Amino acid sequence: MDGETKGIGSSGSALGALLGGAAIPVSATGVLAIDLGALAANYRMLRGLASPAECAAVVKSDGYGVGAVEAGRVLAAEGCRSFFVATPGEAASLRSALPEATIYALDGLLPGSGGHFKAHRLRPVLGSIAEIEEWSAFCGSEGVERPAAIHIDTGINRLGLKADEQRHLLANRKLMNGFGLSLIMSHLACADTPDHPKNSAQRADFTEFCAQFRRTPLSLANSAGIFLGADFHFDLVRPGIALYGGNPFAARPNPMTPVVRLYARILQIGEADAGETVGYGASLELQRRTRYATVSVGYADGYFRKLGSSNGQRGAIGWLDGRPLPILGRVSMDLAVFDITDLPEASAQRGGFVELIGPHFTVDDAAGLAGTIGYEILTSLGSRSTRVYLGAGGAAQSG
Ligand SMILES: *Cc1c(COP(=O)(O)O)cnc(C)c1O
Repeated sequence: MDGETKGIGSSGSALGALLGGAAIPVSATGVLAIDLGALAANYRMLRGLASPAECAAVVKSDGYGVGAVEAGRVLAAEGCRSFFVATPGEAASLRSALPEATIYALDGLLPGSGGHFKAHRLRPVLGSIAEIEEWSAFCGSEGVERPAAIHIDTGINRLGLKADEQRHLLANRKLMNGFGLSLIMSHLACADTPDHPKNSAQRADFTEFCAQFRRTPLSLANSAGIFLGADFHFDLVRPGIALYGGNPFAARPNPMTPVVRLYARILQIGEADAGETVGYGASLELQRRTRYATVSVGYADGYFRKLGSSNGQRGAIGWLDGRPLPILGRVSMDLAVFDITDLPEASAQRGGFVELIGPHFTVDDAAGLAGTIGYEILTSLGSRSTRVYLGAGGAAQSG
């Protein structure tokens, strides 16, 4: 950190300067800083691994929390042509931002929703014979062969045609006469565990079904699937988490560049004596006279309750001016308390920012402590925070 600045604990303008000139609104309590340059770099890395397959992007759940529209624009500028979201509603929002892109909705066709897909030029991922029949009939009623993907289930038992439906479809191909089959896909259950035998079993079932379709593009790999090697790439790969800097593996180091950092304001600074307790449930008794900072972040911001501490149980670490601030007691809905006893007094001031997720305490560190995965942390952050976008050529913007 620049020795001339007082540090991000002093004010919003200091955080703004650290973030490359971003304007931090005076009303912002939490700031989710999103590095669009890192997002673009992750995309280029995955595309390089998957080449010559097409590298699409999964931007469901508002781009895993970073903003589907902002992420989509950056990825499109990198050359990404195909995007996947979960819901038809997400797909329509993305369409307004990306008029040229191919957009698939993984949830498929909801009953009676053909008109929605037509109006926004979206492609449903059809996961059952019923959906295939409905899309065919919808297209047939207008005499227009609109494109759609079909999803076959090769063992995750979630969405997709089961084995009996796959046989039925192969024996009744005219079911698909009404529409243009643009992609056949399936989804891996255990790609984050490269040695899992289910990976090759699913791949074998996928290959066997797809052998009946000579000219249709095929897709099997999510982020982790890309790292399983060229046998899993087929014609198009569908990374999500790795684009956003999350670890695609369950038990290997993270090869991706981090994309998000979370900061929140110091609302109040206080002191308490040894023997006093902090927070709900009085779960943490102070061992020394302690200076603490009460920070505007809680479980409603995606800062999970499991990140708190109690007697004998360490919790998350906040950071300020390069120094660690152990969390004190439970995380509540809107607040968490950090130990600033060892911090120079000038570093922490009312209105200043503490780094909660970033290079020192990562999304994956938070996930490990909270007993979950980076996906859940990422998609939970930012609902209440002010998103500030950095990098990818432009000046920082908040939105
Ligand atoms: C979410 C999802 C992806 C992306 O998975 P990641 O593990 O985030 O890369 C790909 N395909 C399907 C069907 C999905 O639901």
